Amino acid sequence: MVRVLTHFVHGERSPGRSTTFGDVFDPNTGKVQARVPLADRAETESVIADAVAAQVEWGSWNPQRRARVLLRFLQLVESERDGLARLLSAEHGKTVPDAHGDLQRGLEVVEFAAGIPHLIKGEFSDDAGTGIDVHSLRQPLGVVAGITPFNFPAMIPLWQAAPSLACGNAFILKPSERDPSVPLRLAELFAEAGLPPGVLNVVNGGKETVDTLLTDPRVAAVGFVGSTPIAEYVYSTATAHGKRAQCFGGAKNHMVVMPDADLDQAVDALIGAGYGSAGERCMAVSVAVPVGEETADALVSRLKERIADLRVGPSHDPRADFGPLVSADARDRVIGYVDLGVEEGAELVVDGRGHTVPGFEDGYFVGATLFDRVTPDMRIHREEIFGPVLSVVRAADYEEALALVNGHEYGNGVAIFTRDGDTARDFSHRVDTGMVGVNVPIPVPVAYHTFGGWKRSAFGDLNQHGPDSIRFHTRTKTVTSRWPSGIREGASFTIPVMR
Ligand code: NAD
Repeated sequence: MVRVLTHFVHGERSPGRSTTFGDVFDPNTGKVQARVPLADRAETESVIADAVAAQVEWGSWNPQRRARVLLRFLQLVESERDGLARLLSAEHGKTVPDAHGDLQRGLEVVEFAAGIPHLIKGEFSDDAGTGIDVHSLRQPLGVVAGITPFNFPAMIPLWQAAPSLACGNAFILKPSERDPSVPLRLAELFAEAGLPPGVLNVVNGGKETVDTLLTDPRVAAVGFVGSTPIAEYVYSTATAHGKRAQCFGGAKNHMVVMPDADLDQAVDALIGAGYGSAGERCMAVSVAVPVGEETADALVSRLKERIADLRVGPSHDPRADFGPLVSADARDRVIGYVDLGVEEGAELVVDGRGHTVPGFEDGYFVGATLFDRVTPDMRIHREEIFGPVLSVVRAADYEEALALVNGHEYGNGVAIFTRDGDTARDFSHRVDTGMVGVNVPIPVPVAYHTFGGWKRSAFGDLNQHGPDSIRFHTRTKTVTSRWPSGIREGASFTIPVMR
C-alpha cells in the first residue's frame, strides 16, 4: 500500500488541493512507499495567509510561555523517539542508530531555544546622556520560511524551526520532497505540545512552492539548507525581494593527516566520517590529505583493510555500517563520479560500483569507494560527490596541505589530525573554513555555538543555531528615552501661575 501524505496547516494534516504528487521511495528496495502532494502557488499563498494571522497572538505570548511549548514538545518526542528514527531511516536510507543521531542533534537545538527568555533579553544603558536611557528590544520578524534538504530530515527542520518559533515568529517549513514524513510528524507533535494552529505549517512541494515563499512579501525571512546552486538561487531571489536570508550550501571537507598523527585514530575517523550515512552529510569527510609519502602509504593501506570489513546493508539492519543512497538519481550520480575519477587518472583502490545486497537487489546501494593519487584539479576533487567515495590527495608538506584546503571553492568543515599543538593552532588560525576539527573528524558545533561554512558553502552572514539564530530570527529596536525631571507633586488646588 502506498501511503498518501499531506501538508500540515492550521494545526492539522491537510490533503491539499494540488493534483501534482512526488514519489517517496524506499531506498532499500527501490519501490515507491508514499506519494507527497506538491503545493502550487495558490495553495502556498493560503498557507502563508494562515501563518500571518497566527503569528500575531503567538508573538504576543511572553517568551517563557513560548518556551513551555518547546519543553512539552521535547517530552512528547521522547515517548516516540524510536518510531521517529525508524520512519526517518525508512525514507532516507541511513541506519536506525544514525537516524537517532539526526533527531538528537535537532532536539539539542530545541533545548537551546527553550532558553529564549534569557536569549532574547535586550540591552540597557543607564544615563547614556543626562537623564537619558537607551534600551534595545528583540522583536519577531513575522513569518519565516525554511527550505530543507533530504539528508537531515529531523535535524535541519528543528535547527530552523525551534529558534524561529521561540523568537515569536510563525514558521513555514518546506521540507525535502524525498523524505517528508518525519517533518510532518514533528509538526503534529508541536501542535500536541500546545503550539497554536498556524504557527508552524508544513507545506510540501518543489520549485513552484519555494518560489512562492521567496517572492511573497508577507514572508520576512528565509532559511535554506541544500546544494550550492539552489542556495545561491534562494539567497539572490529572497534578498532581491527584500527578505533576510541565510542559505547553506554544499561542501567538500578535507581531513589533513600529519606525519605525527595517531594513525589508528585517523583511520577510524576517516572510515566513519567518509562512509557514515553513505557519505550523504554536508560535514562528511570526502578528501583525506596525508602529509608526506610515508604517511600516505600507511594511511591508504590501512583504509583499504578497514573498508574490506565494512558492511553495507538495508537501513533497518542493525549490523549495517551504512545503507543505500536516497534515490536512483543519487546512486547514478555517485557511480558517474567514480567512472569520471577513473577517466581522470586517479587510482581506484577500492571500487564500490556494482555493489549488491542479497534480497535488496533493487536498492540504491553503492559500496565504499577509495581513490588514491587524486590531484587538486580533478573534478572528483573539485565537486561534491555526496556519496561513499573518499579521495586521497597527497601533500608534500603542511603548507601544501593548507593551500589545497584554502584553494577549494567550498569551506564548510575541515579537520586536522596531529599530536602537535602548534601545528593545530596555526591550522585553526589560517584555514579558510567555517568549522574546524582538531583530531575531531566531523566538527559540527554544539547547539549553543553556531553552525555555518565559509566561501561557497554559505550565503548570508549569520549562522544556524546558537546566538546567531536569535539574531537572525529577530529584529532589533532601540529606544532612547528621557522623562521630565523632578518628582511630581500631584494635583495642585491653587490657581496655576507662571514661574
Ligand atoms: P537540494 O538543493 O536538491 O534541495 C534542497 C531543498 O531545495 C529541497 O527542499 C528542494 O525541494 C529544494 N529545491 C530543489 N531544487 C530547487 C529549485 N530548482 N528551486 C527551488 N527549490 C529547490 O539539496 P538536497 O539534495 O536535498 O541536499 C543535499 C545537499 O545539501 C548537499 O549539497 C549538501 O552538502 C547540502 N547540505 C548542506 C548543509 C549545510 O549546512 N551547509 C547541510 C545539509 C546538507
